[in-house]
Amino acid sequence: MKIINDKSCSWINDLPPRNNIKVLSNNQECDWLIIGAGYTGLSAARKLSEIYPNQKIIITDAQLAGEGASGRNSGYLVDTTLNDGFTSSKELSNYKKKTDIYKLGIVAVKKFIKEHQVDCDWNESGKYFASSRNEDEKILTNFSDILKKLGFTCNLLNREDLKNKLGTSFYNLALYTKGGILLHPGKLVRAMIDTLPDNVELFENSSLIKWSKSGDIINCKFQNNKIISKKIIFCTNGFLKSLGIKSNYNFPLTLTASMTRSLSEDEFKSIGEPKEWGLLPVRPMGATIRMTKDKRILIRNTAEVHNPFIMSGDKLKKRSINQKLGIKKRFPSLPCDIIESSWSGIVSRTRNGSQIFEKIDNNIFVAGCYNGSGIGVGTLFGEQIAFKASNKHTHEINTIALQKKPTWLPPQPFLNFGAITRLIYERFRAKSEI
Ligand SMILES: Cc1cc2nc3c(=O)[nH]c(=O)nc-3n(C[C@H](O)[C@H](O)[C@H](O)COP(=O)(O)OP(=O)(O)OC[C@H]3O[C@@H](n4cnc5c(N)ncnc54)[C@H](O)[C@@H]3O)c2cc1C
Repeated sequence: MKIINDKSCSWINDLPPRNNIKVLSNNQECDWLIIGAGYTGLSAARKLSEIYPNQKIIITDAQLAGEGASGRNSGYLVDTTLNDGFTSSKELSNYKKKTDIYKLGIVAVKKFIKEHQVDCDWNESGKYFASSRNEDEKILTNFSDILKKLGFTCNLLNREDLKNKLGTSFYNLALYTKGGILLHPGKLVRAMIDTLPDNVELFENSSLIKWSKSGDIINCKFQNNKIISKKIIFCTNGFLKSLGIKSNYNFPLTLTASMTRSLSEDEFKSIGEPKEWGLLPVRPMGATIRMTKDKRILIRNTAEVHNPFIMSGDKLKKRSINQKLGIKKRFPSLPCDIIESSWSGIVSRTRNGSQIFEKIDNNIFVAGCYNGSGIGVGTLFGEQIAFKASNKHTHEINTIALQKKPTWLPPQPFLNFGAITRLIYERFRAKSEI
């Protein structure tokens, strides 16, 4: 199936167009085939090429490399998350395991950008978990206690503090956590494409349609051609299910975001000239909202069970109107028509918030499913699945192995019914925060 993406993501449109695009146009044989060229697949390819400089490594993507979720996310490289089902004190040890993974993810991205001198607007600004509802204080106090027990630096802020820092009076309280980085997701993934080593061949607009295993060999059918590979790594994240990978353990969700143009000097002054900041909602379906370093406002306030292969222009427009309202209620002094672009992207979810990192059969590996936090974890899992598939042991693999495994999901139509009902319920609970 063809993935049809909107062409309207600001992050991607900020980048110079690429001109070295190769489509799969003949049959190929290789030692390693990686499916999916986002953070995960590109990181796996980079690592494999270091481990096996003389082997043939192919990576393919159904669309242009890096133009899936990796180029269209909100750019929070997180060290902690609130809405992942792991934050009650009963689950403290599991929450710690999760933050250990986030920490390794940050280290992996940091190492990559240092080694390759990548400019991706890296800002160690920390982040705010915020709410307009005073009754959410209990959630934030509890969260603050947990983070402090684990050694994270954080502090509670009130409405006045937040007005000064964010330029909006919308929020009544927030927990500011010092860790966490804001970055330009498109610049990061573009750097991963541009620095692919010479023994990695990238084929774009080349969608894997069907695959099978005969003996130890993997046969892969694309639109007009085939690739035969000794080993395969699936890095298609939100599209794992559509390729029949771990189908009963993950499902795709569609997220939609909008970005304004840069605010004018006067507009920026009218909101108090805040420094770059990033805010995550206390309630799961509330808005993620961010002020970029070039004075643009990004908002993401949807998560839906939707056909992951396409979001029509009309549907995108409806979501964009909703996001315009979200910006207006936070920044009433700004004009109504400042949204420059809206886009959607696909993420993968498991029921219990765990990720997927495993060998599913001889010579077949998979890494993905980051539940909306895949910048660091995707980079880490991509590199580490390359080690795992090469039978190498690392302390990172040991840390990943300590995580809970994803839990089983019911089959359709029960799965969609359950997921949609839950999302509607969470959206209702978060309605003031959208
Ligand atoms: C709007 C939005 C906001 C987000 N915000 C954040 C955030 O702030 N912080 C954070 O950490 N994470 C965030 N995420 C999640 C993050 O973007 C993902 O977790 C991450 O990009 C996953 O990387 P990946 O390489 O595994 O998957 P992807 O980037 O999705 O790459 C998978 C690739 O597989 C390709 N593919 C699929 N099927 C096939 C096929 N059959 N054949 C060939 N190729 C195929 C796709 O085209 C795609 O390019 C957000 C996501 C979205 C959509």
